[in-house]
Amino acid sequence: MTQDGIVGEIDTSRPHPARIYDYLLGGKDHYEVDEEAGERLVSVAPEARVSVRANRDFLRRAVRYVVGEGARQILDIGTGLPTSPNVHEIAHEAATDVRVAYVDNDPIVKRHADALLSRTGETSIVLADLRDPRSVVDHPEVRRIIDFDEPVALLLVAILHFVTDAEKPAEIVSTLRDALPDGSFLVLSHATGDLFERSDAQAVYNNATASMNLRGHAEVERFFEGFDLVDPGLTQVPFWRPDGPLPENAASIGFYGGVGRK
Ligand code: SAH
Repeated sequence: MTQDGIVGEIDTSRPHPARIYDYLLGGKDHYEVDEEAGERLVSVAPEARVSVRANRDFLRRAVRYVVGEGARQILDIGTGLPTSPNVHEIAHEAATDVRVAYVDNDPIVKRHADALLSRTGETSIVLADLRDPRSVVDHPEVRRIIDFDEPVALLLVAILHFVTDAEKPAEIVSTLRDALPDGSFLVLSHATGDLFERSDAQAVYNNATASMNLRGHAEVERFFEGFDLVDPGLTQVPFWRPDGPLPENAASIGFYGGVGRK
């Protein structure tokens, strides 16, 4: 990790959150260390695979929702490795004029996303760190895509649990919120230990490039300060506006998700 919080070179000796997530989703952009970490996670949290899929499905429904509500700009911080469908693809199914700025601090994400996005002028990927939120909103490439005078859908999906309490996640979110005009949206999901004791799962990340910080319902809900949660509020992700059959063991999925409007 460099001083500015960007994961430096692509390190294949330590697991990376983006690559563990890719492994759990059944992707191909990961290394042996990530696969080992993913397997350890599944052995202590058997619902891990169905949980990441349910999180991804939440992301899809939430992006459709905000675009349906008129959002034409998306700032997706903690993009993750490309997976089908990606946020810009989901958005463009609903409206072709949606602009998407992707942000991640892992260079492997940027490398893969650059290859994918090379032919789309209104979509871009930027290497920046959520823990320095001003560096995100002031980034010239983010500013090229996003007009902060028009409503923005801010996506913090399955990323804030990589920010420790000492790094002040609530302050990070309020800095971002203050940069957004009224009518903007916050789409947020977060891992929780409310349902099961999950210290073993957290421990899997001890050797990774970011730690896992599980939070309870009330703590996650506080990230929506300054936003009005839309129905049905902050729920376990499968129960947020489901558009098909619920996944198996939906009630055991340890991710909360919600959408707020400023
Ligand atoms: N949002 C996607 C991917 C989640 S995986 C989804 O929900 O499907 C979490 C992503 O956050 C990873 O790609 C990881 O590299 C990124 N990430 C973790 N900490 C970060 C930070 N401080 N700044 C920017 N990105 C970060």
